[in-house]
Amino acid sequence: MDLQAILNTIFDEMQGQSDRGAVADYIPELAQVSPTHFAMSICTADGQSYHVGETAVPFSIQSVSKVFTLALALGRLGDQLWTRVGREPSGLAFNSMVQLEHENGIPRNPFINAGALVVTDAILARNAPREVLGEILRFVRQAAGDDDIHINHRVAKSEQATGHRNLALAHFMRAHGNMHNAPELSCGVYFHQCAIEMSTRQLAQAGRFLMGGHAPSRLLSPARVRRINALMMTCGHYDGSGDFAFRVGLPGKSGVGGGILVIAPGRASIAVWSPGLDAQGNSRLGTVAVERLAQATRWSVFG
Ligand code: GLN
Repeated sequence: MDLQAILNTIFDEMQGQSDRGAVADYIPELAQVSPTHFAMSICTADGQSYHVGETAVPFSIQSVSKVFTLALALGRLGDQLWTRVGREPSGLAFNSMVQLEHENGIPRNPFINAGALVVTDAILARNAPREVLGEILRFVRQAAGDDDIHINHRVAKSEQATGHRNLALAHFMRAHGNMHNAPELSCGVYFHQCAIEMSTRQLAQAGRFLMGGHAPSRLLSPARVRRINALMMTCGHYDGSGDFAFRVGLPGKSGVGGGILVIAPGRASIAVWSPGLDAQGNSRLGTVAVERLAQATRWSVFG
C-alpha cells in the first residue's frame, strides 16, 4: 500500500474543496487563523512516517490535549478517576451545561469540557499550576519524542479572558464537591494545556503510545490504551462522535483549533489539521480527509 500516494491524492482533493467550515471565533486568538491551512501526517507501527501539506506548522491543539491529560490522570490515579467522571457519550455540545445539573456535577465523559476540567483538577491535586503544566508538557514531549513543543501564552490568555462557560462549569462542579481546587486554578491549567501548539508531524508522533499492537508503550498500560481508544471512538467528537464513527470507523479526538488525532489500532497514528470547523466544532476537511484515508486503507476497526 502506497501511503504517500494516498496522502497526495487526499491533498489534491482537499485543495479543491470550497466548503471548509468556519474557524472558531469564540477564542479571539483562534479567529485570526486562516482557514486555508491543511496538513496530514501518518506514523505507522513499523516506524515509517508520511506527510502532506503544512506538516511543520504548529497549531493550537485545544481539546486534543484532553487525551494526554486523561492518560496522565489514569497513570496517576488509576480507576479512582471514574468516580468523578463518566464514560458515556453526552450527545451534547462540548461546552454544554444542561446535563451537569441533572447528573449532580458528574460529567458524562472526560472529553467534554466539564469532564476534561475534572481530569485536569485531578492532576492538579494540591500542586502548583506551573508545576503541573510542566508535567503535562513533559508528557506530551516524551510521547512525541520532541522537546520543541510549547504553550502559546497569547492563546491561553485569550481563552482565559473569555472562558466564562468553562469557569461556570468548574464553579458548578465545585458546588457539587467534584472540583477540588479553586475553579480559577483548574481552569487556568486547562486553558494553558489547550494552548499547546504542535504540528501534525509532532501530533502524529505523540499519538503513537495509543496505537497498541506489538510495541506496547512505556507511557501507559495496554489495558488503558484500549480504554482511551474506546472513549475516543464514543466521545472524541462530542455530539458528532456517532457520525465520525460512521464515516471513519476509527477512534479520534478533535480540537477547535482544527486538529484531529486519529488512531488506527495496531497500525498507525494519524494527525490532520484544517482550521475550518463544522457545526459541532470538529474540523470539517479534517474529517473528510481521514474518511478518505480510512476508505483507501481499509483501516476501519469495523473491517
Ligand atoms: N479550549 C477550548 C474550550 O474549552 C477547547 C474546546 C475544544 O477544542 N472543543 O472551549
